[in-house]
Amino acid sequence: MIACLGRTVHGTDANSTPDDDVSTISQLLDLQGSIENGGITGVAGKDFGGLYSAKPLAVIKPSGSEDIARVVKAALRTSHLTVAARGNGHSINGQAMADGGLVIDMRSTEENHFKLLTIDGSPYIDVSGGALWEDVLKRCISRFSLAPRSWTDYLSLTVGGTLSNAGVSGQAFRYGPQTSNVTELEVVTGKGEVTVCSETQNSELFFGALGGLGQFSIITRARVKLQPAPDMVRWIRLVYSEFEEFTRDAEFLVTQEEGELFDYVEGFVFSNSDDPINGWPSVPLDPDHEFNPTHIPQPAGSVLYCLEVALHYSHSDHHSNIETAVSRLIERLGFVRRLKFEVNVSYMEFILRVKQVEEHAKANGIWDSPHPWLNIFVSKSSIVDFDRTVFKKMLKDGVGGPMLIYPLLRSNSGSRPSTRIRVNVMLDNTWTFWSFAVALFMGNVIFQVRWDDRTSVVLPEGEIFYIVALLRFVPKGPSVEKLVAQNHEIVKLCNNEGLDFKLYLPHYQSKEDWKRHFGYQWSRFVERKLSFDPMAILAPGQQIFKRTH
Ligand code: FAD
Repeated sequence: MIACLGRTVHGTDANSTPDDDVSTISQLLDLQGSIENGGITGVAGKDFGGLYSAKPLAVIKPSGSEDIARVVKAALRTSHLTVAARGNGHSINGQAMADGGLVIDMRSTEENHFKLLTIDGSPYIDVSGGALWEDVLKRCISRFSLAPRSWTDYLSLTVGGTLSNAGVSGQAFRYGPQTSNVTELEVVTGKGEVTVCSETQNSELFFGALGGLGQFSIITRARVKLQPAPDMVRWIRLVYSEFEEFTRDAEFLVTQEEGELFDYVEGFVFSNSDDPINGWPSVPLDPDHEFNPTHIPQPAGSVLYCLEVALHYSHSDHHSNIETAVSRLIERLGFVRRLKFEVNVSYMEFILRVKQVEEHAKANGIWDSPHPWLNIFVSKSSIVDFDRTVFKKMLKDGVGGPMLIYPLLRSNSGSRPSTRIRVNVMLDNTWTFWSFAVALFMGNVIFQVRWDDRTSVVLPEGEIFYIVALLRFVPKGPSVEKLVAQNHEIVKLCNNEGLDFKLYLPHYQSKEDWKRHFGYQWSRFVERKLSFDPMAILAPGQQIFKRTH
């Protein structure tokens, strides 16, 4: 059978058509699901970025992990075929594509595995790697009044797609990224083995898959932590004219003790102008609210900053209690008092807020235009330089869409250690085994690793780092190359200035660049590849490894 598949995909029969190939592969694989001809015009040849296209040999719509295992095993026995899991194709740089290879459309498995579990008294949901987060949200709330703790801003992304990167939004300072909120995965490795993995079972595969850019396995099921879903959200935007004050307050908010935290903290930079997309009008949360520029303190620079925070509450909470809670949380902040915007929305509306942007952008024809986006993690030590050179100069007129910037915590703030332990830390400047053990024993520190360095995610140094997301929407075509060039320029500038940064959703084309990206984690990444996908079958669109024979 495999020899026959090999011949088919080599196209040795001069008279065969792609349709013949596909129907032959289909018969040979004996799939429960279905298989379609690839084709550059098909959806699997494109992605949200709109910068790259590819022509897969075939697109497989599996019914579950057994089908996926069959496809991987079949590809393994050819000399050249690769396999790309495609979530919802919301990558920017062709990461979910397989030129001439087999694309697995994970959405066909989205209904699999929806099951609620209680483990040690806490709720979890088993979901398909091909499920969209928006469906996970809707089903969890409508059936159980529960919801995942950590999100992305936009939810038409698959569980497997975001877990292969990190999955970051305004809850991550508190609960870590989505990769820190799953406790078990079922995957299909690059050897075609269906394997269950967790922190204690096949742990190298588990941590490798999380943030692993699809390099080691295809995630077919994830066990996601849940919490009671709130009813409502107070959603607030606070404007700053000085970057130092903005970052000081953002860092203050994310490092408060449990009970004194907002449920969500993000922020963005906007142009100090009346530009409808990049300037003042992008700030108010309600069309009836007006941004009055006369309130901007003078002198102000070319860009301004906005902290975006949210507090959950329930229908039964008294209005005055919510007011008191919000006032207490923001009273010490240094925002421009007359540039505060707030609304109350349902939790569902809040979590699905970017859906509205999508509908609007689709109506304006810019959702389907190219998106040369750039996402970077920048350490706290480099963020002022980044602001000075990139935001205040290069991007002072905006990028035609949001320029997000907000702090994230690597380990254990939020549930902040007590003063005593913090003093120890300052004296040692390290968490020694003993100070840590004593702290745990005394019960005065709730230690939670927000970004577990056993995962494949790569971060800059330091406890606090920022995510910077340049979410460009391009209404007209020709300038795309310029914008891509500007992204390169920003990365080059970060390198030249010696800034401490790592690309998020990285895109590199040379091995040298990938090595530099992974730094000291490169050898572990390569070892994991050799263990779980030794022939480099999986996720060829990331361009990290070449298929071996
Ligand atoms: P795809 O683009 O289909 O795939 C991405 C990569 O993962 C590919 O290499 C693919 O082969 C691999 N892959 C896909 N499924 C699986 C699987 N089941 N198992 C193993 N590998 C797999 N990210 C954030 O962190 N926070 C945000 O707030 C955020 N907002 C976004 C908003 C928009 C509008 C867009 C377009 C993207 C956003 N992203 C955000 C980025 C997003 O998380 C990633 O691009 C993600 O990979 C997209 O998910 P997807 O399901 O479309 O994956």
